[in-house]
Amino acid sequence: MNCLFCKIINREIPSSIVYEDDRLLAFNDINPQAPTHVLVIPKKHVESLNDLQPGDDELIGELVRRAAAIAGERGIAAGGFRTVFNTNRDAGQTVFHVHLHLLGGRNMAWPPG
Ligand code: 5GP
Ligand code: ZN
Repeated sequence: MNCLFCKIINREIPSSIVYEDDRLLAFNDINPQAPTHVLVIPKKHVESLNDLQPGDDELIGELVRRAAAIAGERGIAAGGFRTVFNTNRDAGQTVFHVHLHLLGGRNMAWPPG
């Protein structure tokens, strides 16, 4: 499959891996927008939140909890962090494999750009 993040999962493209188990992978974003900018992805290829099925609920729950756990490891959980799923054009999604951005280590503006 010609998917960048599937290639990262399969080690066809190198990345800086932060966490891995049988269902999830987390790695540092190549173009970080904050001191912590980690992408947490399911190993299952799902293009966007629009394509999630009821059977994916547990997987996405694990993904969100893993982002919080990584924030805890980084010492940014109490201070706060931003988690973002970009979906399709208007949100600026560029890689069509579900990924949760974990951003932290600086103050975040609201509303986002
Ligand atoms: P999106 O805009 O789809 O929500 O986010 C895609 C993210 O993937 C961007 O933040 C971008 O910097 C990151 N990215 C794109 N290509 C690569 C890559 O080859 N390696 C890594 N580690 N991140 C990438
Ligand atoms: Zn994929």
